[in-house]
Amino acid sequence: MSPKPGRKNRTRKIEKVPKKGNTRTKTKKTNKRKPQVVMCPYCGGRSEYTSSREVYHGKDYGMIYLCRPCEAYVGCHQGTAIPLGRLANAELRSAKMEAHRMFDPLWKDGDMNRHNAYAWLARELGLPTRYCHIGMFDVDQCQKVVEACVSLVNKKFRES
Ligand SMILES: [Zn+2]
Repeated sequence: MSPKPGRKNRTRKIEKVPKKGNTRTKTKKTNKRKPQVVMCPYCGGRSEYTSSREVYHGKDYGMIYLCRPCEAYVGCHQGTAIPLGRLANAELRSAKMEAHRMFDPLWKDGDMNRHNAYAWLARELGLPTRYCHIGMFDVDQCQKVVEACVSLVNKKFRES
C-alpha cells in the first residue's frame, strides 16, 4: 500500500518562536468564546455582541447579539459566544412565544413525549426533524405551529 496522496506534505511547519511575553498558543479549533460576525436578518447590518442587560432591564442573562435599529437580538449557547439562532425582532419573539405556548403543553401535559411531539410537528410543517426547532422558525412557521396545534387539540376534543 502506498501512502494516501495529499497526506505526505501535511507535516506541520515549525512554528515561529513566540516573542517574549507572548504566551498565546495557536489552536486550530475555533474559539467558542470568541464573538462571531452575526448579521441582522432584517437590515443586513452587523449585530453587536453585548450584555443582555441592555434588553432585559438591567438583568444579566449572558451575552447577546443585538441590532439596535431593528431591536432584534439573540442569546448565546451557555458559556459560549455561539448564537442560539438568528436575531429575532419583537414580532418574531412574540410569534415564537405564542408557538411555544401552544406547542409545549402537547408534550408537557399531553400523551406525546418531547421527541414525538417534535417529530409530529416536523411532519406537519414538512421539515426534517433536525431542523424543527421553534427557536429557528420565522413568523410564518410559528403561525403554522399554532394552527397545527389548534387543529390537533380540536381533533382530540371531537374524538373524546
Ligand atoms: Zn437590523
